[in-house]
Amino acid sequence: MRTVALILAAGRGQRLGAATPKQFLSLAGAPLLRHAALAFLRHPRIDAVRIVGDAAAAADALAGLAIPPATPGGASRQESALAGLAALAADAPGIVLIHDAARPCVPAAVIDAVLDALDAGAAAAIPAVAVTDTLKRDKGGLVGETVPRDGLVRVQTPQGFRFAAILAAHEKAAGQALTDDAAVAEAAGLAVRLVPGSEENIKVTVPGDLARAEALLGARVVSSLIPRIGTGFDVHRLVEGRPLVLCGITIPHPLGLAGHSDADVGIHALCDAIYGALAEGDIGVHFPPSQARWKDADSAAFLRHAAGRVAARQGRIAHVDVTLICERPKISPHAADMRARLAGLMGIGVEAVSVKATTSERLGFTGRGEGIAAQAAATVLLPA
Ligand code: MG
Repeated sequence: MRTVALILAAGRGQRLGAATPKQFLSLAGAPLLRHAALAFLRHPRIDAVRIVGDAAAAADALAGLAIPPATPGGASRQESALAGLAALAADAPGIVLIHDAARPCVPAAVIDAVLDALDAGAAAAIPAVAVTDTLKRDKGGLVGETVPRDGLVRVQTPQGFRFAAILAAHEKAAGQALTDDAAVAEAAGLAVRLVPGSEENIKVTVPGDLARAEALLGARVVSSLIPRIGTGFDVHRLVEGRPLVLCGITIPHPLGLAGHSDADVGIHALCDAIYGALAEGDIGVHFPPSQARWKDADSAAFLRHAAGRVAARQGRIAHVDVTLICERPKISPHAADMRARLAGLMGIGVEAVSVKATTSERLGFTGRGEGIAAQAAATVLLPA
């Protein structure tokens, strides 16, 4: 049976005190609405996602996702839900899950629980969690009474229904002020099944909720990243009449490295390590030496590009390690500056950047001072 997630994003979110409605506030790098939409788009049992809310703001928040333009909402949540259901009627799904954009952290297991109950024959199903705090009635700052919490639950979204039944129930309830879609279903005489919700499925309502939701989403992003390790190696010849640029730092030295660009052998090896981790070729693919515009180019631009490719893949550089191989110059006096420069170019912390050096015991071309070699490793975290 075709299943559509209808996400309500038409609220004004006044309790947060921000000028922007909360569903469009940014959280862990994306608007709340986008997180909520992705939870359903990525769920294997959801066939389509539809939005109710401001079409222009929703289009910005959902750029690039396979979601059609939003349906304008109404003056209340109930009117918005009815508008969204009415818009679905032309191509009616069998099942609709109605969700609040203010719940961006909804776990896949909660969506499954609602769908399982519907599959098992329930007319309607909503997620709920236990009330664990003692409940008291506030009478002007004094405790009026302790309210028994036996049998009380806190309900969440998505709330799941058979489409035709919830549309009819909403049409019948129009004009009444009911708090959620389950209340609309109850008013129409539908039995609403409770299924397990999640404490992670928080509703962003007050400013403190934003930090909690961000921590939850951030932790999930990290746990879904896969580490990939790339390596790079490069050699350039030492010649007279060229500046010596190593790992982005110009070092006073009688000889410099020859090459088409500034010949920064350390950055070149590092770029190849990053491109290697991405499996996106090597520095020559991205910056062909046959092109005149890279002549004497500052290799900093190459490293910025490599780091930008990681960002474009929604990844992050966890750590890099560069080894320079030469008899001269001595690298250790410059290592701290090199680390800081590389970290700045990649936009990562200096503690994640290692620069070290070794000699080749006067053996081979590096031992004879004919050139400098560099090797590098990069650990890149990419989405699974
Ligand atoms: Mg090179």
